[in-house]
Amino acid sequence: KMADHCNGSSQSSESFVNIPPIKFTKLFIDGNFVDSVSGKTFEAIDPRSGEAITRVSEGDKEDVDLAVKAARFAFDNGPWPRLSGSERGRILMKFADLIEQNIEELATLEAINAGKLFSLCKFMEVPGAAMTLRYYAGAADKIYGTVLKLSKGLQGYTLREPIGVVGAILPWNFPTTMFFIKAAPALAAGCTMVVKPAEQTPLSALYYAHLAKLAGIPDGVLNVVNGFGETAGAAISSHMDIDKVSFTGSTEVGRKIMMAAAASNLKPVSLELGGKSPLLIFDDANVDEAAKFAFDGIFTSKGEICVASSRIYVQEGIYDKIVNKLIEKANAWVVGDPFDPQVNQGPQTDKNQFEKILSYIEHGKREGATLLTGGNRIGQKGYYIQPTIFADVKEDMIIAKEEIFGPVMSLMKFKTMEEAIKRANDTTYGLAAGVITKDLNVANTVSRSIRAGVVWMNCYLLLDVGCPYGGYKMSGFGRENGMDSFNEYLQTKSVVTPIHDSPWH
Ligand code: NAD
Repeated sequence: KMADHCNGSSQSSESFVNIPPIKFTKLFIDGNFVDSVSGKTFEAIDPRSGEAITRVSEGDKEDVDLAVKAARFAFDNGPWPRLSGSERGRILMKFADLIEQNIEELATLEAINAGKLFSLCKFMEVPGAAMTLRYYAGAADKIYGTVLKLSKGLQGYTLREPIGVVGAILPWNFPTTMFFIKAAPALAAGCTMVVKPAEQTPLSALYYAHLAKLAGIPDGVLNVVNGFGETAGAAISSHMDIDKVSFTGSTEVGRKIMMAAAASNLKPVSLELGGKSPLLIFDDANVDEAAKFAFDGIFTSKGEICVASSRIYVQEGIYDKIVNKLIEKANAWVVGDPFDPQVNQGPQTDKNQFEKILSYIEHGKREGATLLTGGNRIGQKGYYIQPTIFADVKEDMIIAKEEIFGPVMSLMKFKTMEEAIKRANDTTYGLAAGVITKDLNVANTVSRSIRAGVVWMNCYLLLDVGCPYGGYKMSGFGRENGMDSFNEYLQTKSVVTPIHDSPWH
């Protein structure tokens, strides 16, 4: 279903919300908004129309160098890593408050630049950023080591110290969430940072940098350098003075980042990469609930979710009922302007990705999968795609193997649990999975057998800042959220001393 106004027309949103002028378009280095050294700029695009919203400064190696210099100085000489944890926590709490005071404007930026539903940004993603900040603000004063029990004549303890200057390289699908999933634990741990947002979504990170300064984060601690992957991104991963890189994006780029880190200063990296996550629906499932989890699992946020339920395995006894329910849901699903409260799905964020999704859909048709619904773009303007469901998908088809990162579901039928587990694990990825059944033994067996970083039981897509997630296999390594993520930004130092002139020697 298409919203009445949906031709990708960007004018339509005016009736729903006032779009404020864009305030921040330069690089944020050492506490100031500055032009790039080259003076170059690039366009931030509105995916509702494909037209430019504004131009932003384009950072390159020289700008990354300046940002790293500021972050290095702030780490080595500045107060941030030496502040008490409770003081850092207090500043991060203030940062969270400031985000909440600017929710409408921040949600608007995400809707116009990333095509995300305004309501989802306003009620979930932006408030989620504040929640993430508060979670790690609360952890900042709970950093402690252990007392070491050593051999005779020695005593010792461990210190947990911030890892240093962190380079964060972000994707475009969740510009706000990805910024804070990395910045909140890193800053709470006492690290300083250079953040490179994705070139498709450069706007909100600059606004966050402005709020960070207002909250009292000292100059140089948090720097934002917009720019392209092969230039600004590569300068971060190969920089000799960056101590860790945290990356979220494609597996292909993750590999390049790891190689650049190895070839430079051997900095540790954490990689959150792609997925092709299976959801297994068993015969005893409630049809309405199971179809809802399956549908929302892939079509929420236009399928641009790394943990999306892109492979749905349905047991044969319930298969037809689930198929009918999914088609019903697709028919009621409204694609259109992300500001329209009736709309369920906005435009894809990126033009290249939009074209890639359409070409995957063509592959699916050619490879012999049954197109149940959707399969086309909507309108002639903007990057809108129909929710698309393929049935009779086989594991060797491209649409079952490769990450599409769009609103395309692949449906497959299975007979037994053992078969379903085997097929679900038949992927190079291992980011997430789901199981829908009333049988606890089946749920437990499936959740332990699937090699993935998160398994949802009788639900899907429910993530919480307290719940670590990340990849098995080629979905990467390292964990985000929870205390696992906090520990990624800390390192252990042992302090050892002999006991002299005492009976304990
Ligand atoms: P991408 O890998 O093309 O880009 C991600 C970031 O890397 C961007 O900031 C880009 O500028 C930068 N980059 C590109 N080339 C680089 C290079 N040579 N050196 C350093 N940086 C470079 O990915 P994308 O297209 O932005 O995002 C889509 C992909 O990301 C999907 O495959 C999706 O699954 C994955 N993703 C994973 C997660 C997760 O949490 N695991 C979350 C979101 C997206």
